Amino acid sequence: MQSCKSCDTRFNGNYCPQCGQKVIHRFNLTYLWGMFHQDVFELDRGLWRTMKDLLVRPGYMIREYLNGKTKPYFSPLKYLLVATALFYLLVSIASMVDAGDTLSALDWKKKYFYNDHPLISLQTIRDLGGIFTDVVLVSSLSFYFLLLLPILALALKIFFKSLNFTEHLITLTFLWGQVFFVLIVLLGLLTSFLATLVGYNEVAFLTLMGVCIGAMLFYFVWTYRQLSGGSWISTLFRLVGGIYLGYFLFFTFSILIFISLKAMFA
Ligand SMILES: [Zn+2]
Repeated sequence: MQSCKSCDTRFNGNYCPQCGQKVIHRFNLTYLWGMFHQDVFELDRGLWRTMKDLLVRPGYMIREYLNGKTKPYFSPLKYLLVATALFYLLVSIASMVDAGDTLSALDWKKKYFYNDHPLISLQTIRDLGGIFTDVVLVSSLSFYFLLLLPILALALKIFFKSLNFTEHLITLTFLWGQVFFVLIVLLGLLTSFLATLVGYNEVAFLTLMGVCIGAMLFYFVWTYRQLSGGSWISTLFRLVGGIYLGYFLFFTFSILIFISLKAMFA
């Protein structure tokens, strides 16, 4: 019997059954190398499995995860954070190469906040749209969109009662992460291959957008059907209902924030 150095539990063996602390007799280089190896090379433990399962059997994988089989997988938040970090790294590299006309912080505040547009008007809604397309999508403010997840989870709970709020949140976090990973691949394709193939034109861009949105909806319906076991049609209707409600709440909330920010700046 020995007592754990971290939590004082008495136990036999190499790991504390209470907190998982490994027994360390004395630090040496072999041990340090082992720790380093674990920290650096096993960062991605579960990443490929999570990515692959979310691609080929998303709903079944999430159901297993919700039932408690969490060990083989990345945690949903970690998955989302890795995906978004990678995505914005690529976007910033791409925009450096592109030398795009992104607005500086001062410019966009002047354009959208310090202006004479009346507070409650059509112009305010246009400004809000401008903020989303000019600023939020291309800057670190895009983390604002993470706010969409709990709001969507709340709305979907109304339409899929078999899952609770947290289970919806976990599901959406996984799916959102997966969407970002797919976007990374698409972005790579777009900047290298597709752009030279079709050229930058509005019709091609809009078609691609339509295909992407359609594919995303299909992916969500597919997942939720595997997850909740309903029919395709009923899953589709409930999902569309939940997403509409979620987006409505999200944008209502955004407009309120925008108006109050504007009132503050004015
Ligand atoms: Zn312990």
